[in-house]
Amino acid sequence: MPRTDDPAAIVWFRRDLRIEDNPAWEAALRAHDRVIAAFVIDPVVMQQAGSRRQATLSAYLESLDRLLRVRGADLIVLSGSAPAAAVARLAAEAGADEVHVNRDPSPYAQRRDTAVRRALASLGEPARLIIHDGNSVLPPGSVLTAKGTLSRVFTPFYKRWSAALADEPALPELLGPTDPPPADGSPRPTGRSRGDDPPWNRLVDWLDRVDRYPETRDLPGIDGTSGLSVDLKFGALSPRTVVEVTGLHSEGRRAFVRQLAWRDWWFHLLFDRPTLATNAFKAEFDSIVWRDAPTDFDAWCHGRTGYPIVDAGMRQLAATGLMHNRVRMITASFLVKDLLIDWRLGERYFRRELLDADLAQNAGNWQWVAGTGPDAAPYFRIFNPTAQAKRFDPSGDYVRTWVPELEALRSSSIHEPWAMGPLELAGAGIVLGDTYPERIVDHAVARQRTIDAYGAAKRTQSAK
Ligand SMILES: Cc1cc2nc3c(=O)[nH]c(=O)nc-3n(C[C@H](O)[C@H](O)[C@H](O)COP(=O)(O)OP(=O)(O)OC[C@H]3O[C@@H](n4cnc5c(N)ncnc54)[C@H](O)[C@@H]3O)c2cc1C
Repeated sequence: MPRTDDPAAIVWFRRDLRIEDNPAWEAALRAHDRVIAAFVIDPVVMQQAGSRRQATLSAYLESLDRLLRVRGADLIVLSGSAPAAAVARLAAEAGADEVHVNRDPSPYAQRRDTAVRRALASLGEPARLIIHDGNSVLPPGSVLTAKGTLSRVFTPFYKRWSAALADEPALPELLGPTDPPPADGSPRPTGRSRGDDPPWNRLVDWLDRVDRYPETRDLPGIDGTSGLSVDLKFGALSPRTVVEVTGLHSEGRRAFVRQLAWRDWWFHLLFDRPTLATNAFKAEFDSIVWRDAPTDFDAWCHGRTGYPIVDAGMRQLAATGLMHNRVRMITASFLVKDLLIDWRLGERYFRRELLDADLAQNAGNWQWVAGTGPDAAPYFRIFNPTAQAKRFDPSGDYVRTWVPELEALRSSSIHEPWAMGPLELAGAGIVLGDTYPERIVDHAVARQRTIDAYGAAKRTQSAK
């Protein structure tokens, strides 16, 4: 590692794999002539990621390296030791006095930052860890009630978030200081062009469709959402930039930006409540007696529950690492409310398999679906998977894509094959229990079992 007398700065990239609108990168460049870009393959993080997500990370790292090379830098990828040792060694070798990062609010990342800070401080020539905020639209911990607390309900949080956003300075380098949003709803002019920048191109393509978001977002059978969650997870797109470039000048744009406020809210909640992935947010539900049912859990994971919409979602996840939001809600609800299996098992499975897996988003949404989380619906309001499927996949096309053995069924029957007569099924080449599973549970019975279990947990708590 070549050293000069001037100290260097290290930018330690983690989940912010971009250089546009990256506060850590920009701060390091402002303060130092010599800036070193580094990524540490963290064994703890890699252990929690399925092979598909590991491969996706490699692809994003290659893209970041290409972007850096154009600017005369390259990405140093460190592996083989814990981040504290790896970053401290690099700082010592490079003669760096500052290490810049963007905040990661997960409890593990917070502990990791403490360890890195300590390792840097103990060097012969100490270096400082400087933390910026570049992974959310507004920093975790910044949007609070008048009393200085975090709102437990999304809508008031969203109102304050929107007000704080309006006070934020624009990103002049992206938007040009005087550019108003075009009246015809086309993408706002930017200083950034297409070219070899797939995340940016995906965003620009999405802006052609965003105005229809309110009508399309809940339909898993069509391409009606942005598909940007993986770019956001790895930080190839800055969430702040996404919001700025989208603007708020149509109902569709406002609805889309509202989803990014949900993302910020879960970051705020995890930052405030590090146990979000391990303990029920509403403590009374930590005493629910869950079923120990490994065979049912296995059927859920592999898409063999006999409920076509649930099986379609779980097979989409296994095949692609993704699942539509509406179907995430249906499959998660099925695990918790129909199978009465602990939401933490499902959360862990999703977190391993999803390409966009993120502790705050995943645990927050799981708790919301389980009814144990903040702003969740009352526990006795339980999704009916068949009614959901008929409403949001009325043609059955989504199910046909992922459960091809039901392909020949008409839209009117594809969501409940158990309700068909054997002759009708045979006509479609289906034998329940053979070519496609029988239902592993009857929703009406399961629903009552869950209401009883949640009710009992509440009573146990209030008797204490
Ligand atoms: C049980 C469950 C687990 C989930 N786990 C994750 C996860 O690990 N990582 C993750 O990024 N999202 C998670 N989500 C939220 C949501 O399903 C995905 O963000 C969305 O499906 C991604 O597709 P998209 O980019 O096309 O979304 P769009 O509809 O285009 O939304 C735009 C962006 O807004 C954000 N967003 C949308 N919905 C939500 C939401 N409910 N909560 C928080 N942010 C949201 C995402 O960043 C998304 O990319 C989960 C939802 C559920 C119900």
